[in-house]
Order: sequence, then structure tokens, then C-alpha cells
Amino acid sequence: MGKDVSGHGRDTTGGGAGDGTDEARNGHEPLSRPSPSPSNAMLSSVHYPDDQLNVLVIGAHFDDCEIKFGGTAVKYAEQGHDVRFHVLTNGEAGHHEIGGLELTRTRRTEARASAELAGVDLTYFENHEGELRPTIENRNEVIRLIREFEADLVFTHRPNDYHPDHRYTSELVQDAAYMVTVPAIVRDTEHLMYNPVICYLSDDFQKPYRLEGDVVVDIDDVVETKMEMLHQHTSQMYEWLPYNYGTLEEVPQDEEARFEWLEETWLPEFADLADRFRDELIAAYGEERGAAVEYAEAFEICEYGGTVTEENYEALFPVV
Ligand SMILES: [Zn+2]
Repeated sequence: MGKDVSGHGRDTTGGGAGDGTDEARNGHEPLSRPSPSPSNAMLSSVHYPDDQLNVLVIGAHFDDCEIKFGGTAVKYAEQGHDVRFHVLTNGEAGHHEIGGLELTRTRRTEARASAELAGVDLTYFENHEGELRPTIENRNEVIRLIREFEADLVFTHRPNDYHPDHRYTSELVQDAAYMVTVPAIVRDTEHLMYNPVICYLSDDFQKPYRLEGDVVVDIDDVVETKMEMLHQHTSQMYEWLPYNYGTLEEVPQDEEARFEWLEETWLPEFADLADRFRDELIAAYGEERGAAVEYAEAFEICEYGGTVTEENYEALFPVV
């Protein structure tokens, strides 16, 4: 399931690819992800966005976007780009004591507070949590979502993941890729003239292969905000997840102590990402800063979205 980075996609980088390109991109490895389908050659497979980016993060659940993308979201938002967290399920199932509409309302309120901290928008669909399916109806809704937002970038889960909602979210986004450019599909919403770039959010799964750190972001300067975002998700961070992990008794009652506990629980995960992608951080930020980064978020470019090359990388990922 490896990715062919030697194919025709490299051709889209134009002349000059090879010598000196590393330097031109501050040491980044070339990121060209070829579009495997010959039909993609007919539309502009390399998308050159405006200065103002529309960044869409599509998560299955109300905390997915901030756990995987919270720091990067703050960075995009601080630069004036439009960032939207969109959640595909209604959050009604992930709790041991409450459920249904009460839980949906709680989760939405918590997610709204979190999104406000980051300066990003929050929208969602109504699919039952734990029962998301990759149907044509859901695919068409995702196509509408991407088109209406005119997303330059879409971030979502990888298709191999422990949670069925994550898997099907990924499948829905992958299936919407390219189709967003086809006028005869979902005729009620204007099609896009480009294929948005799609990136996978990070995970630890090993099969069929480990996530590649195509884009790795230093989040040290925004990690406190990211933690405060997670802190808003009371029903998830301090109730359901500890219950599910068998650590509920460890959760302090006091607000301040709770936040410290949350940091002790989550910061090592973000530190692990920095260590795992240390080489990529050094390539992106230089030896000194790259080696010093404490916390990171990492993303892999999906082959089915628009192509990323040396020419559009900086415009798409100004947060690196
Ligand atoms: Zn989730």
C-alpha cells in the first residue's frame, strides 16, 4: 500500500525539480503526491489557493478535530485563514451515564466553547454516533460541505483506524475527493474547478503502514490553547474517556488540578509526535529549532486529493 512518488505526479512540479528544490523549500522533501487516475490530468491537479485559505477539518466526533489539529487550527486562525471544524456524528453515544439528546447538546456546547478559543467555526451533521455509514447520501452531504466551504484543504482521519466512525468519515471524504469537481454529481451545489488537498490526521496504527509525516507543525507556542480547548470537553476528557480507560478515579475534582492532570495525560502524546517526526521537523525548521520542538502535530497527504508540490506547499501550509 505504499505510495508511488516517482510517477507522473512529479512532473507537475515543473522544471527545476531536483537540484536546489530542497533549499527553495527550506529543506522540505519534495511532497508531490501523484494523482493516480489519468482522468485527474484533465483538471488542474495542482491547486494554487488564494492568500485566504479555507481549511476544513472533518472529524467523526466532537473532540477529534482539536486532539489532532487543535494547535494547527490556532495557527491558521491566527494568520487570518478560515478554519472550520465539522463533525459528522451527533455525539449521543460516548458516555457511561448520559446519552441521547442530552449528551448531544452537552457535546455541542463543549465543542463550541473549544472552537471559540481557537477562533474557528464549528458545524456538524446529525448522524447517529457509532452508526456512521459510508452511504451515497452521506457522501453527497460531504461533497456539498466541501463545495460550499470552497475548501482549499481538507483534514480527516485515515481509513485504517480502530473506530468505525473514524474509518467511515475517512472513506466519505476520500470518496468525495475528485467528485467535488464533477458537475453532474450533486447538481444542486456548484462544483469546484480544483481538487482540494486532503491530509490525514495523525494516528499510531501500523497496518498497512505508519502515518508519513508529510507536514509536521511545531505547536509549542499554541499548545497551552490546545490544552484549554481539550479542557472544554468536560464530558469527554474528565468523564467518558477516563471511564473507558479505567482511570476515572484518578481524575481530580478541583478545576485547576484537573487541568494539570489533563496536561499530564495528553502532552506526552504531542511530545511523542515531535520525537517520531524529529527528522521532518529539522528539515522544516532547521537544525536548531527542529531539534528543540517539544510538541507537534503531523499530517500525511492523501493521494486522492489535489497534488502538493514545491510550488504550492508554502501557500497551503504557511503554519509550518
Ligand atoms: Zn473520534
